[in-house]
Amino acid sequence: MPETASPLITLRQDIASACQQAGRDPDSVTLLAVSKTRTAGELAALADQGQHDFGENYLQEALDKMEALAQRDLVWHFIGPIQSNKTRDIAARFDWVHSVDRLKIARRLSEQRPAGLSPLNVCIQVNVDDEDSKSGVPLADVAALAEEVAALPNLTLRGLMAIPRADSNDSNRGAFRRLAMTLSQLRNTMPALDTLSMGMSADFAVAIEEGATVVRLGTALFGPRPAR
Ligand SMILES: *Cc1c(COP(=O)(O)O)cnc(C)c1O
Repeated sequence: MPETASPLITLRQDIASACQQAGRDPDSVTLLAVSKTRTAGELAALADQGQHDFGENYLQEALDKMEALAQRDLVWHFIGPIQSNKTRDIAARFDWVHSVDRLKIARRLSEQRPAGLSPLNVCIQVNVDDEDSKSGVPLADVAALAEEVAALPNLTLRGLMAIPRADSNDSNRGAFRRLAMTLSQLRNTMPALDTLSMGMSADFAVAIEEGATVVRLGTALFGPRPAR
């Protein structure tokens, strides 16, 4: 059988060429493997190819995989909606949370981050399309929430995340640009912010052109998701 390039290798090349197009250093973009619904074995296969960062949406499923993969040195990102009763485990077990969209959740994550662990890295999830139905803080409220989150002792605010409404007309370029502008404004007072978590399988190249530092890839990496 001839060797075919794995999706991970192909995607790394795609990310590198998008960076090159945009005049950016390829190391400035992290590939986050979105592994919801995938088995621990599938994650292990990627880890064998050098993939460290994994993004999960469902707590119990994530905890099971963490246990199965405990021998490996992986970085776990929580990227799904957060209910209050899940914050304790999220604070204890994850390295990053991308989906903070209200102060109450941020406070709980900070209070429940175990002593002895480094502060939890968090991004504020922004509703870049200002849709009523979507999670994420409205653009107009980002600055106020960012200040409050940044003041919490056991969190490190790293930046912003968004899941734009799929807009096939411009591959979400407008939404990515709004998020990038918002981060750039925040950086006037919070220069340490360094993370723009945006871009998924269908639009990551555009997101990289617009400044993404983390692209979250599921189907491009693993194929179509099985029903859950
Ligand atoms: C599922 C998911 C992704 C990955 O989406 P794909 O289109 O499969 O790449 C990225 N981000 C979040 C928040 C998700 O829930």
